[in-house]
This record gives sequence, C-alpha cells and structure tokens, in this order.
Amino acid sequence: SQQFIWPMAQFGQIINIYQRAKASSVRVFDLMNERGTLDESAGAPDLVVPDGTVKYDDVSFGYGEETVISNVDLQAERGDTIALVGPTGAGKSTVLKLLLRMYDVDEGAIRIDGTDIRDVNLRSLRRSIGYVSQDPFLFYGSVKENIAYGTFDASGEEIVSAAKAAEAHEFVVNLPDGYDTMVGERGMKLSGGQRQRLSIARTILKNPAILVLDEATSHVDTETEALIQRSLARLVREKTTFAIAHRLSTIKEADEIAVLDEGRIVERGTHDDLLALDGLYANLWRVQAGEIESLPRDFIERAIR
Ligand code: ATP
Repeated sequence: SQQFIWPMAQFGQIINIYQRAKASSVRVFDLMNERGTLDESAGAPDLVVPDGTVKYDDVSFGYGEETVISNVDLQAERGDTIALVGPTGAGKSTVLKLLLRMYDVDEGAIRIDGTDIRDVNLRSLRRSIGYVSQDPFLFYGSVKENIAYGTFDASGEEIVSAAKAAEAHEFVVNLPDGYDTMVGERGMKLSGGQRQRLSIARTILKNPAILVLDEATSHVDTETEALIQRSLARLVREKTTFAIAHRLSTIKEADEIAVLDEGRIVERGTHDDLLALDGLYANLWRVQAGEIESLPRDFIERAIR
C-alpha cells in the first residue's frame, strides 16, 4: 500500500500540516486529558447515544475576539466518516475540540442524537467518544492494562479479542511476557505502529459510538501500515467518525471531505466530487500529481486534466 501512503504525506507537506502533525496530535491529546474548563449545570444527565448522529448546526467559535470557526454545518450518521482537511491553522482541531466540549460554541449548537452537548455531563460525553492518534499514550503497566484502560470491567477474553481485531495479538504474544509484558515509560519499547495498534485495541474495547481520528504522520513500514489500515477500517464501520486526514486512504473513502480554510468550510463532497469541482482540494492534488508516478493511472489522468 506504499503507493497510497506517501502521496498523502506529500499532500500534507504542500498544505504544511505534515511537519506539524506530530505537535498537533500531542496537542489534541493533552486536551483530551484536560479537565473541562466549562461549568456543568449540577446534575446534568448522562448522554445517551442510541443512533450516533452528530450534527454541527451553524457553529461559530473564537478563542478570543477573533472568530476561528465560522458557520460550520456538518452532519454524520453512524457508519459515516467525515474527513477534515485544510491548511495549517484552518481550524480542523478546533472543530473536534468543540465536539469534545473543550470549549463551548459561541453560536449555533452541536447535537448528538438531537441532544445539545451542553445539556449533558462531560464524563458521559467523553466516554462516548474514542480518540485514536498515531502517537498514542501508553502508561507504565502491562499490555493488558493498557488495552483495558478506560474500560473497567473488561475480561481477559475481551482484551484478547480486541487485540485480535486491532491486528495486535500476534506481536503481543511474541513479547517476552505476552499480555503481561510491561510497556510505557520504563517498560518495553514498542514501535509506533505497535503502540498505535494497542491504542486501537483500547478503543475497540471501549466501544464508543463516536470516533475522533487524528492521523498524524508516522514512519511505519508498509506491512504495518496495511495492518493499521485494516484494523481502523474495522473500527470505523459502525461508528460515527471524524478524521483529521493526512492520508489518501482515508480521504478517498470518506463519505464526506470538508475542506476548511480560515474556519470556513469552503468545499465539501467526496474525493471524486472535489476533484470534479476543481477548486482548492483539486489544486492540491494537481500540484502533487506532477511529482508522482506511482498513483493509479486513472487517478493521475483525472488530477491533471
Ligand atoms: P493544524 O493543521 O496546524 O493542526 P488546524 O487546522 O487544526 O491546524 P486549529 O489548531 O484548529 O487549526 O487552529 C485554528 C486557529 O485557532 C489558529 O489560528 C490557531 O492559532 C488558533 N488557536 C488554536 N488553539 C488556540 C488556543 N488554545 N488559543 C487561541 N488560539 C488558538
């Protein structure tokens, strides 16, 4: 799958996110762990997510005076993947921070199955959302404990089954102590691809209705990349997924690509729609296509038309 991966890295370089991808994923992760700075009304009810429909309704937001997100409308149903692309600083991470309620919208609303996320308690909101990055967090503890992190009542069997679904089982059983191998800070060093598959296993076990994927770049080999893609594909199947996309595979298969520029959605549609539209997205691809020989021929023909 190499030919499908490196062109996306190139895309990332062009729009200057490739270099910042790592910092960006760390930033999102820090935020996931930050305590909510927002006041919750006392005794706010738990979020329940029967369907997994996420709707951004005319959302605007600024960290300060300046508006960073303007009039964003997005809607995703269970099984959908929405990819957010755009130049650095366009507001991709901010759009996802609003879903996690790191900040509240200034105007408009975000609703999950019809419920305004400001009307439920934060714990239940964040329990409903899984986060996968390529630089995931492992604490010092066993592989087993790391997979079960966030799921309190997981059985050994469920842990193994999640690891299998994440394409992690095979490497785990080959570690010195299998599932009891200590990893993280002072433990066994795992590769980026291995850590990512553990984090996917953790998310599979947690089984959230909604997924946030930050596909920051990493340098895994082709085979690992294929394994990660396969486990991710399995994971997103019955979820509502928002992905900050750096990779061709995600882009191409997304139900909708929202191209952000200065906080506005300037283009939206499928990969094919956007190529046909011949705007910002298509231009980025055209620039790239001139430098690439390994893309499928029909793709190049469309891109350079
Ligand atoms: P990147 O691809 O570089 O991660 P992005 O598209 O995710 O960029 P955001 O991180 O959402 O963009 O940033 C959107 C805008 O908001 C930028 O102008 C950024 O400088 C600003 N911004 C982001 N976080 C904060 C913050 N905590 N306080 C103030 N401004 C912020």
